[in-house]
Amino acid sequence: MSDLVNVAEMFGQNVFNDAVMRERLPKSVYKKLKQTIEDGKELDPSIADVVAHAMKDWAIDHGATHYTHWFQPLTGVTAEKHDSFISVPNAEGKVRMDFSGKELIKGEPDASSFPSGGLRSTFEARGYTTWDCTSPAFLRKDAIGVTLCIPTAFCSYTGESLDKKTPLLRSMQAIDKQALRILRLFGNTTSKRVIPSVGPEQEYFLVDKEKYLQRKDLIYAGRTLFGAMPPKGQEMDDHYFGAIRERIAAYMKEVNEELWKLGVTAKTQHNEAAPAQHELAPIYAQVNVAVDHNQMIMETLKKVAGHHGLTCLLHEKPFKGVNGSGKHNNWSLTSDDGINMLNPGDTPHENIQFLLVLACILKAVDVHADLLRESASDVGNDLRLGAAEAPPAIISVFLGEQLEDVVKQLCDTGEATYSKKGEKMDTRVRVLPDFDKDVADRNRTSPFAFTGNKFEFRMVGSSDSVSSPNIVLNTIVAEAFKEAADELEKAEDFGMAVHDIIKKLFAEHKRIIFSGNGYSEEWVEEAERRGLPNYRSMVDAIPALTTEKAVKLFEKFKVFDRAELESRAEVEYEGYSKAINIEARTMIDMAGKQIIPAVIRYTTELAGSLGAVKQACPMADVSVQSELLCETSALLAQMKQALKKLQEVTEEAAAMKQEERDKEAAYRLAQAQAHRYHDEVVPAMEALREPADKLEMLVDKELWPFPSYGDLIFEV
Ligand code: ADP
Ligand code: MG
Repeated sequence: MSDLVNVAEMFGQNVFNDAVMRERLPKSVYKKLKQTIEDGKELDPSIADVVAHAMKDWAIDHGATHYTHWFQPLTGVTAEKHDSFISVPNAEGKVRMDFSGKELIKGEPDASSFPSGGLRSTFEARGYTTWDCTSPAFLRKDAIGVTLCIPTAFCSYTGESLDKKTPLLRSMQAIDKQALRILRLFGNTTSKRVIPSVGPEQEYFLVDKEKYLQRKDLIYAGRTLFGAMPPKGQEMDDHYFGAIRERIAAYMKEVNEELWKLGVTAKTQHNEAAPAQHELAPIYAQVNVAVDHNQMIMETLKKVAGHHGLTCLLHEKPFKGVNGSGKHNNWSLTSDDGINMLNPGDTPHENIQFLLVLACILKAVDVHADLLRESASDVGNDLRLGAAEAPPAIISVFLGEQLEDVVKQLCDTGEATYSKKGEKMDTRVRVLPDFDKDVADRNRTSPFAFTGNKFEFRMVGSSDSVSSPNIVLNTIVAEAFKEAADELEKAEDFGMAVHDIIKKLFAEHKRIIFSGNGYSEEWVEEAERRGLPNYRSMVDAIPALTTEKAVKLFEKFKVFDRAELESRAEVEYEGYSKAINIEARTMIDMAGKQIIPAVIRYTTELAGSLGAVKQACPMADVSVQSELLCETSALLAQMKQALKKLQEVTEEAAAMKQEERDKEAAYRLAQAQAHRYHDEVVPAMEALREPADKLEMLVDKELWPFPSYGDLIFEV
């Protein structure tokens, strides 16, 4: 068999995509379905049976035995429950393969077993999954066989969203409506819809599976909880964009092929800054599809790793001392007829529509910086944000030289009369081609950077769904558009009014613009002077979800109601406590059962050999052995004490968990408990790690109970 890959043939072969629908659906049904998918029209339930039938036949033709409603509960990962297509056997004992419209449209997983933050208790278990026809169904092929996966939304019996998709779809409706109003104001009568486009870049680490299995911290927590830095880190910058090693290359090839078959446009791949770190980016897609595809990318990265004796780590900070992983959420607004509202053109100072859009986005980001920050919070990201590698925890906007200059002209003189031009690239080598440079350089330290015709929100965690950041972006920009449109639609002189609004918005919100080094201590101080919020940890960021400002915003655009926001905040507090609890218990286990016994073995051997040497030669200089013995024993004692402390504070924090019937009390408890973990348990974990990492540098490598950082990140 040839190794050559025909990508065009392979692409989308496992997807119930437009070509398949056109071929397999009656014309009238196809047309109706397309109206929902493309124009956002209400789905006509009468077509469900026909679509289900076609979908089932197609799936069975490709070997499917089961189907599943594939959904995204608040766990951050996807969930599925499989049902086979078989019917009740007939009188002859034969089965048919069945799949009805009802089964396509509605599923009923038990809602009480997923996080709901008090919205669902065990005695009110009903929850429904509902077919999202705007994201195509696909076939998953694995050891189970072939499964038809149907993307769905997940809501409670009473209609509250229990997932990451429902509010995303709601936020798409909100921005669609408001963005169209802006387009209409500028004379556009042809666009029918505006949809956010998103391209999430995914970073990840690969480690050897054998070594992974020897580390309980990687298994239980997804990150190392102990580990001294090897002699070499990432300081040589030789991994970033470096040549891809054979084993990794084979892995990437299979990942790409799997993704292409699923219709995911895997496009860019390269080594990242840290050793063993890599990145994959698809071509951007409409936001709900991009969110689904990102989940499929994460699943595929993990699954395929196993085929190559590797394990993929999606954690934000698997290794202390080298870069962590994030996800860059590239976001823009595209109309159905191809207009990108974030395209400045060559002369942005004359592009009034663009300037209005930009001014609205600046306002949205400034007013709701707390919500954006919150949307990028997860437990792993606490180890990254603000730690001089990823973006800081403070939200600011990088515009680049050209746009910043236009804004400045407008703010200083009330008029923008020119746009700086990009220059020709001059390498001073004749044989290299000339080309026009971008009008602006990049700023990798900025959390929210304008990059040509899109904003890149660089704060999102690598393991997190990109749904929340986009729900927030869509909704806050919808609000800014609405406020501008409300005013402009009433204006007598549109030209004057729009000019005034743009100037006013820039003047009022320019404090959010920052193009300097976002990692520096000076920026933290400067941001404070500017009054920009700086939430250093997830537990500090969560309250942003339930402020009166947030409730008003999300209720106005029907994205969340108050109960849904409170439930999400509670789920996040609980998630934080659970994750830290697992990390602390894993450390206690590793320290008590692995590290301390290994160190004792080492000191015992050392003492024995010291005695033996002394006996053989009373004059021998054993100062090295005795110094080592003293040093190791002192660290061991420090470690034992730190272990005891960690055990105590973890028990205390865990004991705060009781059955709370009262909603308000349950919420307060979840919040207090998360703070307890953050304030007491996390520092105790650090205190335990410190002597352990020092011991790793002293103790005989043969005796150390698990692979070191060097083994893990340099020997993949
Ligand atoms: P970068 O220079 O930031 O690496 P790339 O062109 O590689 O930019 O794009 C990074 C991601 O942004 C990709 O997923 C890409 O498809 C996506 N992207 C490009 N243009 C847009 C756009 N207009 N809207 C949203 N995402 C976009
Ligand atoms: Mg990028």
